[in-house]
Parts: sequence; structure tokens; C-alpha cells
Amino acid sequence: MSSALNILKEVFGYPAFRGQQAEVIGHLASGGDCLVLMPTGGGKSLCYQIPALLRDGAAIVVSPLIALMQNQVAALHEIGVRAAVLNSSLSLQQAAEVEQKLLTGEYDLLYVAPERLLTARFLNLISRIPIALFAIDEAHCVSQWGHDFRPEYIQLSVLHERFPLVPRIALTATADMDTRKEIIERLGLDEARIFVSSFDRPNIRYQIIDKTNSRAQLLTFLRTEHLGDTGIVYCLSRKKVEETAAWLTAQGLRAIAYHAGMSMQERSLNQERFLREEGIIMVATIAFGMGIDKPDVRFVAHLDLPRSIEGYYQETGRAGRDGQAASAWMVYGLGDVIQQRRMIEESEAQLKFKQVAARKLEAMLSLCETTTCRRLRILRYFGETTNDAEACGNCDVCLNPPQVWDATVEVQKALSCVYRSGQTFGAGHLIDILRGNQTERVKEWHHDRLSTFGIGKELPESTWRGIFRQIVALGLLTVDSESHGALHLTEASRAVLKGQQTIQLRRQTKQTQASGKQISADVALLDETERYLWEQLRNWRAKMAKEHGVPAYVIFHDATLRELARQCPKTEDELRQVTGIGARKLDKYGDYLIEILRNCESRAGW
Ligand code: ADP
Ligand code: ZN
Repeated sequence: MSSALNILKEVFGYPAFRGQQAEVIGHLASGGDCLVLMPTGGGKSLCYQIPALLRDGAAIVVSPLIALMQNQVAALHEIGVRAAVLNSSLSLQQAAEVEQKLLTGEYDLLYVAPERLLTARFLNLISRIPIALFAIDEAHCVSQWGHDFRPEYIQLSVLHERFPLVPRIALTATADMDTRKEIIERLGLDEARIFVSSFDRPNIRYQIIDKTNSRAQLLTFLRTEHLGDTGIVYCLSRKKVEETAAWLTAQGLRAIAYHAGMSMQERSLNQERFLREEGIIMVATIAFGMGIDKPDVRFVAHLDLPRSIEGYYQETGRAGRDGQAASAWMVYGLGDVIQQRRMIEESEAQLKFKQVAARKLEAMLSLCETTTCRRLRILRYFGETTNDAEACGNCDVCLNPPQVWDATVEVQKALSCVYRSGQTFGAGHLIDILRGNQTERVKEWHHDRLSTFGIGKELPESTWRGIFRQIVALGLLTVDSESHGALHLTEASRAVLKGQQTIQLRRQTKQTQASGKQISADVALLDETERYLWEQLRNWRAKMAKEHGVPAYVIFHDATLRELARQCPKTEDELRQVTGIGARKLDKYGDYLIEILRNCESRAGW
């Protein structure tokens, strides 16, 4: 493995392998097939990039997304690795040129779109040259059940049939068992070694708070925890995306929008801005994000409830790929539960799909309502064994444990109010009855004559909303798909009404973070000199990025700049020790860095 380690240090500028990288690289470099399941930001790319440099011939990397390929190749060029892309973004002439260079052995890595790879022409081409390996990135795209399904991916089994001696590596950040099985089956990877990493993302802080006024809550979150940071805000509908982006802009923040209803051109413009500019907020539907490998996204905020833990994990996983502190923040309320339940009810899907969707939603809801560590919940959902003693200390539940109270009587009041009013009203009206509000509607229906009228006066409306949200989440009430938001009793509510079951609920969590800890990107730079250097380095990086036409992180990651500002290296040898500075970058940028860092005094411990 020593030559792999040399490449890691010399070319990539990293001091040590992470997690299972060394094992995967060893296995693949010696000709074995493998399936690698690693969370986003785990460092999957190195698993095939280093073997590509160790083995003879070119490595063929299949990737579903053009933007992703191009950024990877730009980053490889920055460190002096011979790589290219072959996809529909090239002109015929450019494509012919790439093919020619491939034939004459000028590439170590070639990134190819699946539809291009599968053409008879391309398969013939690569049968004439030595191939180092095949890497199948985003391998979960073979899964017909997943939302990233790509029909061409299924045909990738042809690689094994045509090139049985070339080792293959399939990679994905999708964690569930079914997808794993499907990848193995469809790509013919029965003999492959499987490397499963923990799906924990320890640098991400999970927070799920009660929705009261989502815009105001979002603004507080952005201002107190992420001022000036880059992040993503997810909304369910296109309309809400546009309104939220406009609103954030009016509040003086730099926000742009992305959803499938925008023109191709607008979308790619905004995506490009997000990748290149610093401190920008992307407000988007879930149409945005796949293949965005921007490492310095500091937060992902959800204004609406995701459909499943898979979705939540995937979306929040776009934060903090660089391993630095990041936030996954969400507001959630009764309306979300009702909306998601209705969407399932009203969908045209077959019963089987509806059942699966309902189960996934249940799991998501129980993550929202949990009174124990959110991270452990997520990891258990993905089949990892953990015990309660391992509570993370970096989620809202751990940082600010919610109180649990016996709400049996209150829940009985709510359920009986649903029953007495005929199971045809939504939560708003039911709360009016419980609180004894003489509204027009209450009078019209003579609901002030019900025995449940006013029996919940002692609790404020917000508490009642929290109670209704939780009892819907617990399945004690269901939402009528016919009439707007009407709540019905369920089989499960009977035991509670009869007093055969007690109900424990969470007490409201307060508006944003009790922890109050700053976790913005430059937090670790407390001292003034460091902060000054960091700013200098950032300005310089922005200039370089512009000159080279690449995103800033392709020049250097934040983590590298921070280390530079902290340690203030003065010589080439000292620079070489910094994470993220390999031979090529030292060559290209060393002098600039030494110039910037020249005047700072030496630090202790360096
Ligand atoms: P993934 O594809 O698994 O989401 P990437 O391959 O993009 O992750 O890696 C995430 C980040 O971690 C990248 O910026 C990469 O340069 C960095 N990285 C990967 N391996 C190491 C390592 N051994 N040491 C330091 N940084 C690493
Ligand atoms: Zn926790």
C-alpha cells in the first residue's frame, strides 16, 4: 500500500486515508470487484481515483450527471491528474479529440455518461486499449424503486460480460438494504467484496423544531447560526420556492431559486452561481441537489417535511461534505403531517406503493417526534446497531432534551371532540371548540352546545396544535382525503378513549436553538491575526478561481485555508504538511501563499 499512500500525500496532499479507503483501494488495485457504501462526503472518489493511477491503462468512470463530471475533472486537473469527460456537452470534434487521446494512452481517468458508454462504438473503442478499471458512481441509479432511476444503468451489466478481467467498483451513498441487493443483482456483483461504512455524519448537527412561523424561524436560524454561509433551503412547491427566495432577498440575504418549472437555462445559471459564488442561499425543490458535490455547504434547511428518512438523509447530507461543522435544520408542524398524509391518500399509485409510502412517512414522523437522539434514530433506520449510551451530543434532542408529559387526558379530550363534532372538521375548528372560542363557524354548527366545548381552555392554542400534530403523527387520527383536512378517529384511538392506554407527548421545543453555539464556517478562527489571514486567503482564492474558471473549492477547501491561517507556514516544506496541498498545488500556488503568509508571526507548536 505504500505507493497508494504516496499518491495520497503527493498528488492529493492528504496525510492519511479515511475510514475504509485504504482497504478498498488495495482490493481494487489488485484486481478485485467491489461495492462501496459510504455516506456523502465519506471520500468515495479517492477509492477509484488512486487505483486509476496505480493500474495500467485508463479508468472509465460512469456518472449520471454532467455537472458532477465536469467539476471532478476540473479538480483533477488542478492537481495534475490526466482526466477528461466524454458526454453530450462536447461538440463532435471535441469528442473525437478525447477519443483519440484515450487511444493513445493520454488519460488516467475518463468520465463517461452511461448512454455514451453503452454505444457499440465506445465499447469497441475501449476494447482496443488497456482499461484500468470501471467505476460506477451513484450506483443506486440502477434501482427502479429509487427516485434517481436511470434505465441505462441496468445495461451496465454488459461491462462485466465484455470485459470480465477488468475490475469494477460500484459506489453509492444510498444506505438501505433493498437498494444494496438490487445493485448487486443488476450489475452482476455477486462476487464483489462489499465495503459498508457507517452512515453517520458526525459533523452535521440535526435540529427539528416546531413550526410556528417558518419564515421568521428561518431568518433567526440564518442570522444567528449561518450569517454569510452557503446553504440550501428546501420547500415542497415551486411557488413556495419562488416566494421564499424573493422574501429572503428582501431581507438582505443573497438567495436564488431552483425548481423544475424554470427554464433549463435559468436553472443551470443558478446552479452554476451556487457552485461558484460564496455565501449564497439556494432555495429549491428536491429537484435540486443530486450530483452537487460542493464541499462547503454549511446548512440545509427544510421548510416542509420530507417524505421519508431516505430523502431527509440524502438532502441533509449535502451539508458539510468537507467534514467541517454544518447544520441540518427543519421546521415541522401539523400542516405538514396532514399534507403528506393527503398526498399519499390522493395519489393514483397502486395500493402497494401507497403502503410503502405510508410506512416511510411513519418513520419520518417518528424521527420528528422522537425524544431520544435523532442521529441514533437515523442510523438505526439504516440498520446500524447502536445503543442509547452512544447518543451524539450534536442534535437538538441531545443538546436540549425535550420534556415528556402524560397527555392522556388532553388527548382524550381532543379525540372525543373529534367524535362529538362528527369527524368532519380540521384541527383549527376543533381547537376553537376545545378552547371555547365563539367563532362564526362554531355558532353556525352549534358547536358551543357540545359537551367538549371549552374543556380545553387551560391550554393555549399553540399547545393544542402541538397535541393534534402528535396525535396525527401517532396515528390516533387520520386525515380525510375527500374533505379538506377533516380528522377522523382510527382503530387505535379507541383504546385511548376507553382509558386503556396512556399517551406520553413531547413538550414544545422552543424557537431556535437553546444551544446558541456558533457553528459558522470560520468559527475556529478566533484570533484576530488568523481572521485577517483567512480573509486575505479567501480573497486570493476567489481571484484564482475566477482566473481559472472553476469554483473556489477546486483551488483550495476552506479546511486548507483555515489550516494555513492557523499554522502560518513559511517554507515549502511547511506548506507541504498542510492538508490539501499536494505537489502540483504547491508548485502552482506555493509562492503566492508564502507571500500572503509572510508577515504573520510564527505560531507555537509549528
Ligand atoms: P463522496 O463522493 O463520498 O461524497 P468525495 O469523494 O467527494 O466524497 O470526498 C469528500 C471530500 O473529502 C472531498 O473534498 C475530498 O477531497 C475529501 N477527502 C477524501 N478523502 C480524504 C482523505 N483521506 N483525507 C482528507 N480529505 C479527504
Ligand atoms: Zn443526538
